[in-house]
Amino acid sequence: MTDCNTIAQALASVKAKISAAAENAGRSPLDVELVAVTKTHNSDRIIPVIEAGHRIFGENRVQEALQKWPDLMERYGDLELHLIGPLQTNKVKDAVRLFDVIQTLDRPRLARVLAREMAAQDKQLKLFIQINTGCEPQKAGVLPDQADEFIAMCRDDFEFDIAGLMCIPPFDENALPHFTLLKEIAERNDISGLSMGMSGDFEAAVEAGATHVRVGSAIFGARGF
Ligand SMILES: *Cc1c(COP(=O)(O)O)cnc(C)c1O
Repeated sequence: MTDCNTIAQALASVKAKISAAAENAGRSPLDVELVAVTKTHNSDRIIPVIEAGHRIFGENRVQEALQKWPDLMERYGDLELHLIGPLQTNKVKDAVRLFDVIQTLDRPRLARVLAREMAAQDKQLKLFIQINTGCEPQKAGVLPDQADEFIAMCRDDFEFDIAGLMCIPPFDENALPHFTLLKEIAERNDISGLSMGMSGDFEAAVEAGATHVRVGSAIFGARGF
């Protein structure tokens, strides 16, 4: 088990690697946001990261996030919470209340329910569309050849301002072609955000243009489950 000091050191090390990768690619480190992924970790392990000054976090389950983040938000204020896992429509109300960013918009029905709930709560979340770049049947996300149409529908039917695209490449493949594909879809649709890269490949993702990397185990250690 990693102690608090080590977690803060790991955070600093990940940040330094992001900066170096950005500079390598001729980009400003300020153009890359680190989303610290806290799924399965409790507040004891999250607090050192908040106290080290970090403010942007990601969770993949609404239910789990509801159990730990309201208290942390009350205590620390200006945190930014991203949903990075699949969102079921029956959890949209809770998700809109709790999260600032949804990275996993991927189907018309979810878009419709989100639009209605954001209006009801008078709260505009930042929205990323998840693209299933590997066309994996078990994985969420819009298929690459349906991405343009889905993005257009989000804009035309719901007036969403799409902040970015997100992908989770197949775990047993080189991620780079997936990062490149995501970037191509974003560019031809005038979308600036690119959420790609995890503990194993965030530096490659930054070099490929990521604006958001989602890093869990490189900061918090292995997940217990
Ligand atoms: C868990 C998770 C991550 C972080 O994974 P690590 O390999 O621990 O960095 C990133 N993105 C998504 C969607 C996740 O579910």
